[in-house]
Parts: sequence; structure tokens; C-alpha cells
Amino acid sequence: MKDNYGREIHYLRISVTQRCNLNCAYCGAAKPDAGELSPADFARLAAGFAAVGIDKIRLTGGEPLVRDDICEITRLVKAAAAPKTLGVTTNGLLLAEKAEELLLSGVNAVNVSLDSLDRSCYRQLTGRDALTPVLDGIEKALSLGFRRVRINAVLLRGVNEKGADRLIELAKDMPLDVRFIELMPFSDVGESERMRIRSDEILARFPFLLPTGETDGTAVYYAAPGFKGKIGMISPISKKFCNACNRVRLLCNGRVKPCLGHPETYDLMPYIDDPEQLETAIREAILKKPAGHHFETDKNHTHALNRIGG
Ligand code: SAM
Repeated sequence: MKDNYGREIHYLRISVTQRCNLNCAYCGAAKPDAGELSPADFARLAAGFAAVGIDKIRLTGGEPLVRDDICEITRLVKAAAAPKTLGVTTNGLLLAEKAEELLLSGVNAVNVSLDSLDRSCYRQLTGRDALTPVLDGIEKALSLGFRRVRINAVLLRGVNEKGADRLIELAKDMPLDVRFIELMPFSDVGESERMRIRSDEILARFPFLLPTGETDGTAVYYAAPGFKGKIGMISPISKKFCNACNRVRLLCNGRVKPCLGHPETYDLMPYIDDPEQLETAIREAILKKPAGHHFETDKNHTHALNRIGG
């Protein structure tokens, strides 16, 4: 369906948990403060979103794979909402062991967050010496043949920025896309402006990256000669893409959040047993989606991204 600004909203990001097995410096990893719905409840809500035109769903968190029943969630959501794309965004720690079941349950796209290929830098950023299992997870996902595997990285000035070349090289050697996300002002980073590496800075460092003219709504893609995958720039700060936003979020407690950059959420749980009322509640929430975020002036968001679902 269209929102009040004429944007076609067809993408739902479902946060299945606030819990995470990493503690990334810039994410916040705030203590969980909300309960988690059952797989069946996520499926019933997903069906309501499908009724208003959602055809792409991504499960995120927190870390979605810390839920023992993650494949039950993906299986039931797939059956209830039949999205064209069912994706999972993960830090990859548990991916090697769960990839096959995820694929069998209907997941066709996997995004792995990976900010550094240097073991000690990875540990410094995430709080865990876990680079190897993440790389194993990526390899496993590629070997199983998911329709799409992508790496998402956030570069921080003076921390992992120098490692951008190694991350880019992943797309040279493997059939996956590597996307750089500009740091957004979540948690108490406060210093996000100083730490943020803007997309233009990355592009200036790697002049061999050539625009492809492709975008998926958030990322703008670049190609390099001889590369198997593409490089994407996600620039929520330097090139705000709110006017092309096509998504809403469902939090792990059944509240819908129309915009990442605004605190408003609306509870869907009172309507979960009544498909008609549920559809109406979802439509009303989508119509309340704001025109855009104000991260550029709003520097200290109090919500950690693990609570919202990144
Ligand atoms: N645990 C999963 C993962 O690591 O992909 C899903 C949740 S995580 C919050 C989703 C994405 O949000 C990750 O790629 C992470 O790098 C990104 N992220 C977290 N905090 C961010 C921030 N302040 N600015 C930009 N991206 C952020």
C-alpha cells in the first residue's frame, strides 16, 4: 500500500529478539527491555502485513540466530505471508550451524554484518574473538546457494577504516555484495559525527569502483573490473533516501514502528486474533509513517539499534 507521501510500502523488517551475542561498540547492545513473540504470533502478524501488500520480509534483531526457534519463525512466516524475498540479517556467529535449516525453511537471502577482517580489530569492535566462525558462516551460506549473500559493514574513523580494502576484496573473490553503511547516531556514541566515514570518502579512496546505476532503495551499487560481486553504499546521513523508503518495522513485542528515526510505535497485539482489525491497524500505522528521519540534526538517539532491530 502507499503511505501518505505516496511511497509504496512493501518491505517489513521483523525484529525477533533484542538479545545479541555480540556487543558492538556503536550499536549500544542495551539490555533487552521487551518480551519476544512466539513463532506463531509473528506469523499471524506477518499475514496481516501481507494483506496490505508486504512482499519482502527480513528477520533481524538483536541477533536473530540466538533464538533456538528461528527456523520455526522463518518457516511459519513464509507459510503465512509468502514473501517473494525472505531474508535474515545476522552477525554470522551461528550461521554455519543454522544456514542449511534456514534455507530449507524458506530463507533465500542472507546479510552478514562484518566490520573487519582483522582478528584483533574485530574483537575490539564486537567484544568477541569470533571472526573465524563468521567467515565459516559466510562460506557455508555461499556453498548452499542462497539467492543472495551480502556483507554489511560500518566503518569507524580511526578504528576499522583502514580495513575497507580487505572487505572490498571479498566481493572480488566471492559472489557476494559488500555494502558500507554510514554510522547513524544510535546509542550514546555521541561522537558519531566525528567517527562516521561518509560514502564519498570511501569512493574517493577506491576510484576503481564504477557506478552501475543500480539501487535497491537504500544501497547505491558500484562495480569493479574482475569482481564477482558489487560494492554498495548506504548513506542515511550524507544522501538521505527517506523519499524512497519502502519499509516499516515490527518489533519483537508486536509493536509496529513506521520509521527508524522516530520513536513512535503502535501495538498490534490487541488485534492479532482478528485479521480484519489487524489489517486496519497496520494500514493506520503505515499512514502515520513520517516523511523522514532527522539524524543529521538529531545527534543522540536514546534507542539502541539492538532494541529496534537494525
Ligand atoms: N545482529 C544482526 C547483525 O549483526 O546483522 C542484526 C542486528 S544489527 C543491529 C543490524 C545492522 O545494524 C548491523 O549491520 C549493524 O552493523 C548495524 N548497525 C548497528 N548500529 C548501527 C549504527 N549506529 N549505525 C549504522 N548501522 C548500525
